[in-house]
Amino acid sequence: MLSYRHSFHAGNHADVVKHTVQSLIIEALKEKDKPFLYLDTHAGAGRYFLGSEHAEKTGEYLDGIARIWQRDDMPAELEAYMSAVNAYNKGGYLKYYPGSPLIARHLLREQDQLHMTELHPTDYPLLRHEFLKDERSKVLRADGYQQLKSQLPPQSRRGFILIDPPYELKTDYQAVVQGIQEGYKRFATGVYALWYPVVLRQQIKRMVKELEETGIRRILQIELAVQPDSDRRGMTASGMIVINPPWKLEQQMSTVLPWLHRVLVPEGIGHTKVSWITPE
Ligand code: SAM
Repeated sequence: MLSYRHSFHAGNHADVVKHTVQSLIIEALKEKDKPFLYLDTHAGAGRYFLGSEHAEKTGEYLDGIARIWQRDDMPAELEAYMSAVNAYNKGGYLKYYPGSPLIARHLLREQDQLHMTELHPTDYPLLRHEFLKDERSKVLRADGYQQLKSQLPPQSRRGFILIDPPYELKTDYQAVVQGIQEGYKRFATGVYALWYPVVLRQQIKRMVKELEETGIRRILQIELAVQPDSDRRGMTASGMIVINPPWKLEQQMSTVLPWLHRVLVPEGIGHTKVSWITPE
């Protein structure tokens, strides 16, 4: 079942949080010259036209990136992320939203590598096309979870793995934990970032408990809720679970998340959270 299309959701509040964390991790890894691998297991199409029928149907980006991208009181923690958004939107008009592969492409250096997998028959060719001329990159139509076994550890022994499934299938909540365990067995020093939606809080509690049971240490949880938890249909919050976060990430997200919450949710409902699932 591959009915999920990120084009309906690109640039929404969840993407803003996800891509803020992604850009801060990339910037931290760039503090050392040594190359690293960026592995994006569920990469999407790469570029999203915000005037498309899909984006206009939901209008989600209007409550996300559109609220922040031209603020003049933006915290420094958003600089790298915004530099990527601006690179795809010249002339002061928000036309495209760059997905995680394009944000990585913009921020990574000559010596780094990008490996991306996407299964959707429409999104895969779009993504491949984006990277035709990028010699640092490899785009595969393959299962993202499988990459956590086949691509790790990276040759460079440095890596950032973004795991961003659509959670169309309930089994994704277990599959991500198993996938992380497989990856971690092979590459325990990598930085792993797992995106999650809060639709039913219970599902996330179970997933977090299963992660704790793996015995993996240094797991940071970052979350922004735009509504209180609810039993009704729909995403009320989203977050990133980061294993081996760069040392500054906790502080950076503690600074920037309340700002994002204020700007994205002017009504003041919901919450933010930055806390350790398992510390050192
Ligand atoms: N990471 C992207 C970003 O931030 O711009 C968004 C990715 S979207 C949330 C999830 C993507 O995973 C969808 O495009 C979907 O087609 C793809 N997908 C679903 N199952 C997959 C699998 N097993 N392996 C690889 N990709 C998969």
